Amino acid sequence: VSGGAGVRLVERGGAAWLESEALFATGLVVHAFTARRSALGAAVEALGLGRHTLVTVRQVHGDRLVTIGSPREAEAAAATEADGLLTANPALALAVFTADCLPVLLLDPRRRAVAVVHSGWRGTVRRISGQAVRRLAEVFGSAPQDLLVALGPGVGPCCYEVDRPVLEEVAAAFPGAEGLVAPAREGRAYLDLRAAVRHDLKESGVRPENVTAVEECTACRPDWFFSYRRDGAAAGRMAALISLREG
Ligand SMILES: [Zn+2]
Repeated sequence: VSGGAGVRLVERGGAAWLESEALFATGLVVHAFTARRSALGAAVEALGLGRHTLVTVRQVHGDRLVTIGSPREAEAAAATEADGLLTANPALALAVFTADCLPVLLLDPRRRAVAVVHSGWRGTVRRISGQAVRRLAEVFGSAPQDLLVALGPGVGPCCYEVDRPVLEEVAAAFPGAEGLVAPAREGRAYLDLRAAVRHDLKESGVRPENVTAVEECTACRPDWFFSYRRDGAAAGRMAALISLREG
């Protein structure tokens, strides 16, 4: 697996993950989009996050974002229904789990704050990535043009055929946007989640050149990724992780 431009594969300590060269180059964060063969614990150890508090939420395909300041708050987050997390605390590692939906990592290298978002079609039409940009601005004073964003592995337009109700929500959420859908069978179309999230980020003030994406399709690559569309409800999940470095 190559992941595409600006993305590289890392194999260490029995774990494997993809990472954004741009995020890595800042030296400010540890981050990863894990491959299916990597158990979460192995990846966490190989990333050097074994002593960090792993922060997760109960993902519900909504658009709620939770800001976490301390390890104590992390415990409550695990029981909270939400689909995104923000923090400026280097003791915390933020994570979402996906198996077709897009994981999105955001870093403000100037204010030293990070966010992670779970964006399936429902979160995408609620423009959860753009909401994360605005929340980073509200809470940490982040300027959107400073943000570096990495989109992880998700289902590609090649494999993501959706029906009319979904298409109507996409059209309502992204009026005038082009290139988000391609015609399929009668009344259906192929949805490009990555393109939709890129569009949302751009309209939220993020520079397109600051967004890197894993271009691989989870459904097309059973050797590397879990896929809900391909494997059904029993599909495993990949982790998207990000943690600020100390200092
Ligand atoms: Zn595909």
